[in-house]
Amino acid sequence: MTAEDGGFQLYPADRLGKAAAAAAAAGLDALLLTPGSDLRYVIGYDAHQLERLTCLAVPAKGDPFLLVPRLELPAAQASPAGRIGLDIMPWDETEDPYLLLAGRLANASVVGLADRMWALMVLRLRAALPAARQELASEALRELRAVKSAAEVAALREAGQAIDRVHAQVPGWLRPGRTEHEVAMDIRDAIVAEGHATADFAIVASGPNAASPHHTASDRVLRAGDAVVVDIGGQMPSGYCSDCTRTYAIGEPPAEFAEYYRVLQGAQAAACAAVRPGVSAEAVDAAAREPITSAGYGQFFVHRTGHGIGLETHEDPYIVSGNLEPLAPGHAFSIEPGIYPGPHGARIEDIVVCTADGCERLNTISRDLVVVPARGGRGPSGSEASPGGAVSPQGRTA
Ligand code: ZN
Ligand code: ZN
Ligand code: ZN
Repeated sequence: MTAEDGGFQLYPADRLGKAAAAAAAAGLDALLLTPGSDLRYVIGYDAHQLERLTCLAVPAKGDPFLLVPRLELPAAQASPAGRIGLDIMPWDETEDPYLLLAGRLANASVVGLADRMWALMVLRLRAALPAARQELASEALRELRAVKSAAEVAALREAGQAIDRVHAQVPGWLRPGRTEHEVAMDIRDAIVAEGHATADFAIVASGPNAASPHHTASDRVLRAGDAVVVDIGGQMPSGYCSDCTRTYAIGEPPAEFAEYYRVLQGAQAAACAAVRPGVSAEAVDAAAREPITSAGYGQFFVHRTGHGIGLETHEDPYIVSGNLEPLAPGHAFSIEPGIYPGPHGARIEDIVVCTADGCERLNTISRDLVVVPARGGRGPSGSEASPGGAVSPQGRTA
């Protein structure tokens, strides 16, 4: 799939019409989308966030237009936005783009602003359109963005395979004596080398840090006996994101750890098995929580089961108690239960897509605990290093 073709399938021309219809249905007179994932979703333009205003206006009725600073015009025209017959209006350095925009939207009484628009722009739009109430564009776009097209699922699958290839290399980097930071740097390089445009996060949480779900990476030195939670992801050139967690052990893990890891693996599988159209998001959360709770670890599963993923790593739908939203084919989200009793912890995370009759996992690398030989010589179990140091990159699984 060439970038060009991918861009066209991923960002089809009918998105603009669908966004306008969704705006009308949500009671918004226009969507105003500054650079970010809403703008990219609607017209495929991965625009720079600048203090100069770039804004796509999608009126519920009437023609959409894209305001861009003149110096950004070639980039806008080269993007998928340039191939869909969209009116692209460049503005010059001496013009006020907010006045240009207000001149074309004078009758709007409710506008939906991109959720992550800078306050700088929110306030200037309020001044330029003083009669227009400001709401969130997600009121219109949430449903559209949550249900992925076949091309979007293919892009997420490609991202999942790329991050799986990074995880396949992780055992080779987890050696006693290295710091979490050093491992995270290897991972970030590999995330890009395996096809991502950016490495967005590389959580390497070892030993007691593994008990903190959003620990990132520190100067802690890896030791034999550590469990290590590795949660990594990035954004592909397509715009679609990866996010996958595996837990590793350096040498023999603590006895209790092996016990709850088995519980966790069962819970993650049960939640995946619960996914099908019509099942509520909270029922999937419950399917992950029930086996963990009945094994006595419920108090240590301290976060929701998952989050939607697409052009952003965290987006709708959220897999959490209280979300009664029924799943539909095309919903893509993480299933990532964790158990964090301290002084260690574990998490297993896959991205899944709800299909017509069940669930497809987009991460397929083994979820078994990978036990990395405690070689390296600087840890207490350095003497366990295998002769000659030859270790398969997959490590040993238990
Ligand atoms: Zn998270
Ligand atoms: Zn993650
Ligand atoms: Zn996640």
